[in-house]
Amino acid sequence: MKKVLVTGGTGLVGKALQAVIKNEQPSDEEWFFAGSKDADLTNLAATQALFEKVKPTHVIHLAAMVGGLFHNMNNNLDFLRNNLLINDHVLQTAHELGCTKVVSCLSTCIFPDKTTYPIDETMVHNGPPHASNYGYSYAKRLIDIQNHAYHDKYGHLYTSVIPCNIFGPHDNYKPEVSHVIPGMINRMHKLRTEHPETPESEKVFTVYGSGKPLRQFIYSLDLAKLMIWVLRNYDSVEPIVLSVDESSEVTIYEVAEAIAKAFNFKGKLVCDTSKADGQHKKTASNAKLRSLLPDFKFTDFQEAIEASVLWYTTNYDLARN
Ligand code: NAP
Ligand code: GDP
Repeated sequence: MKKVLVTGGTGLVGKALQAVIKNEQPSDEEWFFAGSKDADLTNLAATQALFEKVKPTHVIHLAAMVGGLFHNMNNNLDFLRNNLLINDHVLQTAHELGCTKVVSCLSTCIFPDKTTYPIDETMVHNGPPHASNYGYSYAKRLIDIQNHAYHDKYGHLYTSVIPCNIFGPHDNYKPEVSHVIPGMINRMHKLRTEHPETPESEKVFTVYGSGKPLRQFIYSLDLAKLMIWVLRNYDSVEPIVLSVDESSEVTIYEVAEAIAKAFNFKGKLVCDTSKADGQHKKTASNAKLRSLLPDFKFTDFQEAIEASVLWYTTNYDLARN
């Protein structure tokens, strides 16, 4: 019997894993989804107590201090320290309790800022990350170093995945914390519902920055399926990029258009160039994933945006606003 502990099991990706597992849980797997109320993983004793209670054989390690460009720019020290602590506590406790496999989560935003494209798994440590999120990036990069160190010393199969930007139901919509898609969904919903006396055609939606940066976005339910595949079938310590194809990259302005279409928003979209753009692009290659799983079908971006907007408007009261 496999006992799988998901840290960060209450967040965007954790909720997507819960949804996928609910529909297809094999009889030889038992899953436990932990949030910060179950254990504050910045605390070693609390981490150990959680592992002793659940007794996992396998871990999907999602828990992290997570946020969009503006949250990172203002909090690099906290992103560095909290994530270093969480990652060391989870990996070392998994080791001490004899977990056979740990799949941790990196991100395409930890890649070097000055680089050639597309970026791949071999390039994680090739140069400094973008200055906006160096705290998060260096803490995440060290997971890969630590995985290799456990492998060298003990032969453990502790590995990592590198998702591109993620979105979907149960995202974090808090304006000061959110990534671009939940941030825009929150702001557009507010703009549409506030001041009902103003005709919508006169309302203006602000796209932060120039709208020109490029991003690859994966729907959280697609990522959850891929992470379950990694847990069951990917047996290498080397990280693997979990991203949509390079051809699916979109501009931030196109993201705003897709969200406007999902809301049927009739007003104007205007870019505010006084706000930061962040990294221009971080185009990642999913060739390794494609070589192992050639037939995987990603959800169409517009369809996934529509499902995410529908989830938000239907579940507004329980969303992280
Ligand atoms: P999220 O929605 O913000 O969820 C974060 C999760 O971590 C929550 O379950 C939260 O628990 C938990 N957590 C945070 N601090 C904790 C602590 N001190 N102790 C215990 N649990 C703690 O984030 P997400 O988007 O699902 O991210 C999941 C993983 O994907 C992260 O490792 C992140 O770095 C990575 N990732 C995210 C993106 C993206 O675009 N979102 C892109 C690439 C990679 P509570 O909610 O219960 O407090
Ligand atoms: P990143 O992909 O790690 O840089 O993080 P984000 O998901 O926060 O995306 C940042 C990009 O979206 C930047 O170019 C921002 O200027 C732009 N952006 C436009 N509107 C918003 C918004 O409402 N929230 C956030 N976080 N970014 C926005």
